[in-house]
Amino acid sequence: MTSPKNVSANKRQDTIKLRGSKSDAKGYEMRDFLQRSGISFEWEEQIGTLTVEISAGKTLDDPNVTDLARALGLVIEPSCAEYDVSIYGAGPAGLSAAVYAASEGLSTVLIEKHAVGGQAGTTSNIENYLGFPEGLAGVELASRAREQALKFGVEILMMREGVKAEFQDNRIHAELANGKIMVARSNICATGVEWHRLGLEREQHFLGSGLYYGAGVSEAPLCKGEHVYVVGGGNSAGQAVMHLADHADQVTMVVRGPGLAASMSRYLQERIEKTSNVSVIYNAEITALDGDDRLSRIELTRDGEKTSWWNTGRLFVAIGGVPHTEWAKDTDIIRDKAGYIVTGPDLLKNGKPPDCWKLNRPPHFLESSVPGSFAAGDVRHRSIKRVATAVGEGAMAVAFVHRYLSETYG
Ligand SMILES: Cc1cc2nc3c(=O)[nH]c(=O)nc-3n(C[C@H](O)[C@H](O)[C@H](O)COP(=O)(O)OP(=O)(O)OC[C@H]3O[C@@H](n4cnc5c(N)ncnc54)[C@H](O)[C@@H]3O)c2cc1C
Repeated sequence: MTSPKNVSANKRQDTIKLRGSKSDAKGYEMRDFLQRSGISFEWEEQIGTLTVEISAGKTLDDPNVTDLARALGLVIEPSCAEYDVSIYGAGPAGLSAAVYAASEGLSTVLIEKHAVGGQAGTTSNIENYLGFPEGLAGVELASRAREQALKFGVEILMMREGVKAEFQDNRIHAELANGKIMVARSNICATGVEWHRLGLEREQHFLGSGLYYGAGVSEAPLCKGEHVYVVGGGNSAGQAVMHLADHADQVTMVVRGPGLAASMSRYLQERIEKTSNVSVIYNAEITALDGDDRLSRIELTRDGEKTSWWNTGRLFVAIGGVPHTEWAKDTDIIRDKAGYIVTGPDLLKNGKPPDCWKLNRPPHFLESSVPGSFAAGDVRHRSIKRVATAVGEGAMAVAFVHRYLSETYG
């Protein structure tokens, strides 16, 4: 087992001070990253370039997120040429897999392209996680899991992204976005999903400058006195609405369907209905965005007819996601039409594995169509899309990794 090398940034004594203009998209990126990483910070409005004071005497001028992560000691180099298991994605599924793999003696590397916690790290309150009757902030779950993983010796490689995979010599040779190759005897893909875009002109332009994907946990405190909009009708959108309603003057939810019942848990619907500063517009879509540097208004189309422009400086988009599986496109890993990884019994047709499967045994549960390559959590075809199931699948995938390693390497 390797020893933990990562610095425990979450346990910092100093509060980071960010200074910049709140209309600057870079400021949003920093706030979002720190919030999701469970690192406390203060925001001060300032004209000019963004500065980040890490501690007395240590200030970064106009950094990007990787510079910041590096300065916080979150970016380390791998210490082994080869690992027993490489895990891609440090959301609940990847963190759980990492904790179980390392605690059971496997040399384990966890590769995360952004912040630890995945979608759960963007959630203000996970209400249905077993054992937490009052709910649990996603960022707390992520920080604790990260600490636990480090304690067991997981190497967490932050700001690294798996972009391509090759399977040879019973190993996965994964290419990272920085061009480095990561070799492991087995792997678990826990790369989750990414938010759907609205598909509107200038969407990228306003990203971080009035337009945000997800619950906007880091932005909520900056919404005081504002009227903000949330688009989406599922649980994620509902949670975003309730969190924003604690800070903003008014929150309007824009829902494509005629009601919330089909897409949202009952408890959230009830809260939305009872909260006085929340309103819902049904059968509506956002069809255009407008503003200069920053978003200033949105166009709504209702029942198929364009309505007038609505003034707002903030729009939160929570309309579901697409799986992160582009990296698998040139491999034998079978994905469904939407891009989710097909595993275990779902790979069998009339009891037979796919042609690319060369072993005498059928794929293990959670194993993809490439032996030794597993998938866990939201990225998996027919997954349940819950924190608890992602955590459970992460742990379960490790049990099958053990079985695969003993079958293959003895
Ligand atoms: C706002 C919101 C509220 C929610 N509320 C609840 C709730 O109350 N209860 C509940 O049970 N569930 C809730 N969910 C759903 C829950 O968060 C997800 O089901 C869960 O996070 C899935 O975990 P995961 O590990 O499979 O994937 P994710 O959480 O999506 O994590 C995947 C990780 O992989 C990383 N990644 C992606 N591609 C790569 C790559 N190529 N290389 C390296 N890293 C990569 C991503 O950056 C991310 O960190 C909520 C989700 C959202 C968005």
